[in-house]
Amino acid sequence: MLRKPLPLEPVDVVVFQNAPAGPKGVLVSGARAPGFEARLDEAYGVLAGAGLTVGSWRAASATTGRTNELIAFAVGAPPVWADPCGWTPWRNVVKVECAPPTPVDLTVWIVFDPDGNQQARVEAAIEATALIWEREATGLAIGDVEIVPAPAAGTAAAQALQSASGFDCTAAMVGTLRTHAGKRSDRINVYSVHMVNGDLGGGVACIHDAAYTAGNAEQSDVAALQSVGDMLVLGQRAAPHLLAHELGHLFSLRHIDGVFLGEEWDPRYVFDSENVMFSSSADRKYLTEGQTFRIHFDARSALNHVFHHRPPEQTSRNYPQIMPGSVDARNCPVIHKRIAPDGAMASQLGSAD
Ligand SMILES: [Zn+2]
Repeated sequence: MLRKPLPLEPVDVVVFQNAPAGPKGVLVSGARAPGFEARLDEAYGVLAGAGLTVGSWRAASATTGRTNELIAFAVGAPPVWADPCGWTPWRNVVKVECAPPTPVDLTVWIVFDPDGNQQARVEAAIEATALIWEREATGLAIGDVEIVPAPAAGTAAAQALQSASGFDCTAAMVGTLRTHAGKRSDRINVYSVHMVNGDLGGGVACIHDAAYTAGNAEQSDVAALQSVGDMLVLGQRAAPHLLAHELGHLFSLRHIDGVFLGEEWDPRYVFDSENVMFSSSADRKYLTEGQTFRIHFDARSALNHVFHHRPPEQTSRNYPQIMPGSVDARNCPVIHKRIAPDGAMASQLGSAD
């Protein structure tokens, strides 16, 4: 009796629909990978419409603890999450529908403006943030921007705000900014003050500050999110890239430095000071795909609890930020997962963790 020859293992393809020209990559999970495998379309632009080959995938059974998912990243579009991704033993063609970048609307309240240049400094910070977001394929864009000048000297508001111009995250100072500068709903409120915690170049997102995270290490306190989850504060001489960092906190991200095994970096948690979420840095440029995933899908991200851009079924969970010694939980690429290299930090193409 003749047996049919086994077919060659078919190669699966991801087709990006309505994506702008530019780099595209995916994180894939299925029977062959314990975590997410990274794939990059190295011929981006050339093969527009032809799809990105991702190897041969089959569905993992539920008992393995492995998942069947695909997260697609493209410059100029928010990530697309296919969960579950219906892997079959045959050739899979997964179509992902890309959307325009997610707009982040900002109101900037100038609280302290001794030399009349604060608006220009704030505009430089917004420009730097937009550039990082675009280059890193975060799928974010600066939306509507409103810049409110400082109240005239001698007014009651100006006098009240003097106490908050050396800002820390006490509830009294937050209240002073909200009452005497202002607060807008459904947007991010940025306060440009004199000093933050005694530092002209400082900045803070109070949701990440000890005053609000005491006993609340994962920032999951709903009251804190409602109270300060839409606001950040910048010192007068804050570096332009600090705005992207503080916004990262509002989008659920935490600092990524300080994860050591003994004296060495855990090689699975490779970050340097060029990552946007490094706590203190001369130059911030990069976000990993693991971070971009959390920006868009973590329930604590302001994208979800302020702007409500995505359906609740995709944004109801809190994801682990840093878990030394283990692979992150289901439905979550590890925080350091990179499709493309970030400066000195290597990509993880083909790596299953
Ligand atoms: Zn920080």
